[in-house]
Parts: sequence; C-alpha cells; structure tokens
Amino acid sequence: MDFHVMTLFPDMIMDGLNTSITGRAIKAGVMSVKAYDIREYSNDKHLKVDDYPYGGGAGMVMKPDVVYDAYLSVKSENAKVIYLSPQGKTLNQNKVEELAKEKHLILLCGHYEGIDQRVLDEIVDEEISIGDYVLTGGEIPAMVLIDSVSRYVDGVLSDGSTSEESFSQGLLEYPQYTRPEIFEEQQVPEVLLSGNHQMIDKWRREQSLKRTLEKRPDLLEKVDLSDEDKKILEKIKNDVPNKVGTAQIKEGGKF
Ligand code: SAM
Repeated sequence: MDFHVMTLFPDMIMDGLNTSITGRAIKAGVMSVKAYDIREYSNDKHLKVDDYPYGGGAGMVMKPDVVYDAYLSVKSENAKVIYLSPQGKTLNQNKVEELAKEKHLILLCGHYEGIDQRVLDEIVDEEISIGDYVLTGGEIPAMVLIDSVSRYVDGVLSDGSTSEESFSQGLLEYPQYTRPEIFEEQQVPEVLLSGNHQMIDKWRREQSLKRTLEKRPDLLEKVDLSDEDKKILEKIKNDVPNKVGTAQIKEGGKF
C-alpha cells in the first residue's frame, strides 16, 4: 500500500513513521510512505505558501495554486485524496478497515487556518478528522491514519493480532497478562495457565463483555450479541449490583 502525504513538514511525517513497526514495514517494502513538501511548489521568490484570508479575520490560509501544483505532481489514477480536517468524519475502526482496502492514498495536511476552499473542492474525495479538537496541523492526524491503516496491510504485523482487538468485533479487548506469574502479590488469572483453549476463549469473551459494559457501554448498543453473550451480560449486571460502570470490578475476577 502506498501513502503519499502532502505537507509543509515532510520531516515530521518521515521521522515519525520511519520508527518502530511502520518503520520496519517501510524498510521491508510491504508499504511505502512518501512525503511531498508543498512549499517546493510555490512560485514565490520567498517560497510563500499562505496568504491573508479574504474577508479578514485571524491567521493565514494556504494558497490554492500552490497546493494544486503539489497535487498535480503526486496524483495518480485510483488514488483517493483525503484531507485531514477537524471538520471531517471522525476516524474509527470501520473506516480504518475500509481505507486499508485502497492501494494508494494521498493525504493532504493543512496548516494555519486551513486551505483555500476552492482547491479542496477540486481535489479532495473525503475529509477525515481524528477527533473533536483542533490541532496546529494535519501531520499528526495523517500519521494516526497511516499507523492505524497500516496494521491491516498484509505483512505489517507478524501475527493476526488485529482480529480480536478492541473495536474489531465491536467490543473492547479482554485484559492481557505476561510473565511474571505473580506481580506485586497479584496472580495471573488461573484459567490462562490451564492450557485449556476452550476455557480461555470463554473467559476472554466474558472479560471483553465485562470491560465493554464497564468502560464503553455505548458500544454494546451497536454490536450483534449472541444469546450466550446476553446471558453473560445479565449475570455480570446481577453479580455486581450498583458497581458496573466503576473501576470496582476486579480485573480477572471470575463470574
Ligand atoms: N480553521 C480550521 C477550522 O476551524 O476548521 C482549523 C485549522 S487547523 C488549526 C490547521 C490544520 O490542522 C487543518 O487544516 C487540518 O489539516 C489539521 N487539523 C487540525 N485538527 C484536526 C483534526 N482534529 N483532525 C484532522 N486534522 C486536523
């Protein structure tokens, strides 16, 4: 999968993504990330990329001609153009999985007060936000998008660790434990040491449901629950009266 990032700060993108798992994936050639410096497309002798907003007001606006010229050098057939914007649809796991099916994504990062609307109307297919707050630029949102999408690109993760994760099945993931078996007098839940995979799967499903009920009950309204899941949830609610929704349910506890 190829990510093309149009930005005023290419080093920020490359330094961030050439690290850790995405860095390894880029090195191994299973995905590519290229950052294009929008400033290089300025015709101004001082390489100006922004100007005052028509109508007045605070801040500067990125110029349409400069962004458009940068786009012309990046564009390719079948590439979807995404503008990272606080006004876009909020990124979630479904969107991440949908974007992972694309072969080429062009990500446009704004700065200052944003980008002249006319060039956005001309080139952008979709606007995506990473949450209801305003950042100084689109670079961190672009990195968030690339990182989350890259996890669904074949060869980026060595195992199938996306399938059971939080949100992938509409629920939060069960708690995880590793060695040592006892830490600060806390024992790893016995079932995880049993070697009985059926029991482990059952325990994990129960824990997933319990966590989701405690931390994100809104998710339970959107997920398809089996009759067994519904029974488990009823039992959790009855077993811990008045405590659901607080941190008082001990992690790893049995039902
Ligand atoms: N004036 C714009 C507004 O009120 O909608 C905000 C501009 S913001 C300071 C500058 C740039 O940061 C935007 O053009 C966008 O690329 C990026 N940005 C800021 N917050 C973002 C968010 N929550 N999600 C995605 N991109 C964001």
